[in-house]
Order: sequence, then structure tokens, then C-alpha cells
Amino acid sequence: MRIGIAGCAGRMGRMLVRAVLDAPEACLVAGCERPGHPSLGVDVGVLAGAAAIGVSVGADAEEVFTLADAVIDFSMPEATTAHARLAATHRVALVAGTTGLGEPQHAALADAARLTPVVQAANMSVGVNLLLALTRQVAALLGPDYDIEIVEMHHRHKVDAPSGTALALGAAAADGRRVALPAAAIRSRDGITGARPAGAIGFATLRGGDVVGEHTVIFAGEGERIELTHKASSRQVFAAGAVRAALWTAGRPPGLYGMRDVLGIG
Ligand code: NAD
Repeated sequence: MRIGIAGCAGRMGRMLVRAVLDAPEACLVAGCERPGHPSLGVDVGVLAGAAAIGVSVGADAEEVFTLADAVIDFSMPEATTAHARLAATHRVALVAGTTGLGEPQHAALADAARLTPVVQAANMSVGVNLLLALTRQVAALLGPDYDIEIVEMHHRHKVDAPSGTALALGAAAADGRRVALPAAAIRSRDGITGARPAGAIGFATLRGGDVVGEHTVIFAGEGERIELTHKASSRQVFAAGAVRAALWTAGRPPGLYGMRDVLGIG
């Protein structure tokens, strides 16, 4: 499969270049950056710390969509709408990993998905997506006698809490229990809180050092406790998941897909 990367000089973009180069079924044919980026014209292989591959960073996103069978986009929300339109125009599959998307971007992705396969996920790690599915399943099987607590830890620079992934795990647990997360969630505790309300889904946030991302979902019952844990030690897992998603689109009909579809756990 011919793969292009939008935002190829970013932190994730460089990881994606390495992940595509490492995938035997994939061929990296193009990469683009925002106009004026200092990496324009640089060989994308060299940019990612590998050997030169004869493909240089361009400023024309449309060129990427004319050369590729699938484009992986980890750039900025502002670029997602334009990339979704290009994917639709050229009938090229799109893997949309950029986070912080608003309603206009989601609408643009849904529009494009009527004409071409689109995979969108805020966390493309295979492990986290499996954890989401397991959390939903275990919450449904155990029922309300087991108290659910979600503990996450990230590096000291993270500015939001709980993490988006922790909230997604909470939503998966709530889904398994057939309740709405906003009504069940306790996002922090301090002081005399009173006893734990029945059915609550609690969150605890730890911050420190260079931790890439750790999430544990605890199901605490009378006399036993089940814990499901995921630990990311490298952002490479997100790139690997995105490349897997791109390869998965080969031969798929148009549609808006998630990582659950890619992993076959939908
Ligand atoms: P980054 O800032 O290092 O990289 C983003 C790159 O996109 C930059 O090089 C920027 O110049 C480029 N860019 C901006 N506008 C562009 C345009 N119009 N066309 C082409 N390139 C453009 O950020 P990052 O850490 O690599 O993260 C990128 C995005 O991926 C963020 O939204 C981040 O939250 C998201 N992310 C998603 C996952 C996931 O699993 N889905 C995992 C990690 C990060």
C-alpha cells in the first residue's frame, strides 16, 4: 500500500515515518507539512533518523492525496477539515489521529466517509483499544456490586486531567453498565467526601517524571479485586496502530471506522 503522512515533521509524524518504513506491506510515497515549516525539502527518511528514501517533505497536501492509497494525518485540528475533503475528492483512505477535533472537523470526516474509508481515533494504541473493549465487557459482566475506579499517570508536562483515555475508559465502563458517565463520574476527591456512592465511577490522577501514559481500571468487590492495566512506554504504539489502521483500509467500502473495527473487537 502507498502511504502518505500529513504533519510528517511533527513528533508523531517522524514516528509514523519510521513505522511505515518498518512495515513490509507499506511504501512511504509522500509527506507534507504546513507552509513555511523549516523541514520543507528535507528527505523524510533522514528527518526520521533513517536513510534517505528519495521523498522530500512538501507543502502541498493535495499532492500527498494524489500519490497515496491512504494518508495518515497527525497534525492539527485546523488541517483536518481540508484533509478530509482531499481524501473524499481523491477517494483516498484517511487515518485521522489528530486530537482536539471540534464539531466542524467531525462533520467533515463524516462527509468524507460517505466516499472513502476513514478511521478516526483519539488513541490508536492497539493495547488501549483492547483495554477499552475489555473494560466495557468486564463492567457488563460484573455488574454494580463491583466498584469501578480508574487510575492514570502521565508525565509532569500534561496539562489536562483526567486524561482523555481515562475518560474514554470511564465511558466504556459506563456503557457496559448501561449508565451515563457524567451522572456516575467522580473526577476527584478531597476532604470529608462521605462514603462512596453506589454505582460511582471514580477517577484518580497521578502526574510526574516522563511517564508516557499508564491506565488501570479497578473493579473492587467484596473479597476480591480485578485490575486491568495498560502501560505505554513509547509513543511508537500510536504510530504502529495508525499504520495498522491504514493497511486495514485496503479494499474496505467507504465508512467512518474506529480502532474497534480495525482490531475486530467492534
Ligand atoms: P506536533 O506539534 O509535534 O506535530 C504536528 C505537526 O503537524 C507539526 O509538524 C505541524 O507543523 C504539522 N502541521 C500543522 N498544520 C499542518 C498542515 N496544515 N498540514 C500539514 N502539517 C501540518 O504534535 P504531535 O505530538 O506529533 O501530535 C500531533 C497530533 O496527534 C496531536 O493532535 C496529538 O494530540 C495527536 N496524537 C494522537 C494520538 C492518537 O493515538 N490518535 C497519539 C499521539 C498524538
